[in-house]
Amino acid sequence: MPRIGPYTLHTIETGRFGLDGGAMFGIIPKPLWERRIAPDARNRIPLNMRCLLLEGEGRVILIDDGLGDKYDDKFADIYAVDYSEMELHRSLRAAGFDASDVTDVILTHLHFDHAGGSTRREGDRLKVTFENARHHVQRKHWEWAMHPNARERASFLKENLEPLAASGQLHLLDGDAELFPGVEVLTVNGHTEAQQLVKVSDAEKTLVFAADLLPTTAHLGLPWIMAYDVRPLVTLSEKEAFLEAAVEGGWRLFFEHDPETAVAGLRRTARGVAATEGRPLSEL
Ligand SMILES: [Zn+2]
Repeated sequence: MPRIGPYTLHTIETGRFGLDGGAMFGIIPKPLWERRIAPDARNRIPLNMRCLLLEGEGRVILIDDGLGDKYDDKFADIYAVDYSEMELHRSLRAAGFDASDVTDVILTHLHFDHAGGSTRREGDRLKVTFENARHHVQRKHWEWAMHPNARERASFLKENLEPLAASGQLHLLDGDAELFPGVEVLTVNGHTEAQQLVKVSDAEKTLVFAADLLPTTAHLGLPWIMAYDVRPLVTLSEKEAFLEAAVEGGWRLFFEHDPETAVAGLRRTARGVAATEGRPLSEL
């Protein structure tokens, strides 16, 4: 098992889904992006919802938790939800954990494909999935999600937020912080207000959970920015600064949505920063 500092790392694959390829790549013409990730007949590209679990120092820390299972048939059809190969609870069990073992959930942001697994339906009631966990969310992002703008509203589902608000298990953060030894959150504001990336490091290694700043390796190219982003020019400068720091520091990146690559390093090329060959987390 790969380790960083006191933590053992586990990939928790929570399932696959599909989003419109045009929306995923913004201004990039389809003849370019379809060579990176091929769309289906309805123009959707396959995406993983790949989460990361850190175990150590008496804690079991899960970073994001996929879209959960509260959706209806219409949602499953639009977003091509596919749990045939992977699902949150199956992946937790395969790694040797149960939902009740999780002590902390770091939510990078509250879009449904990142935070939907935090709550579940039991009969006609909604419950928090991780009954023993504190859920760490940026305060500015929480307020943004509770009062969403019309353009982003479809990404923030009430059933994903209200049980957390009522649970007393929410820990709101004010900006960048070291949450646990060697586990820092870094805020960025281009994709949505106050998204938090998670940086795990020790003296030798750094791995950053890049969330929706860099959802796939195809998004390493500076203009490859999702149409979903609320402030694309902010994303542009955040990506530039982040990639510079990542190359300088020799950081490896964990890609939440890439359909193939879980972890990759970075190298400078004549055409900007590119990924080294992708690896599974086990070869970190
Ligand atoms: Zn998002």
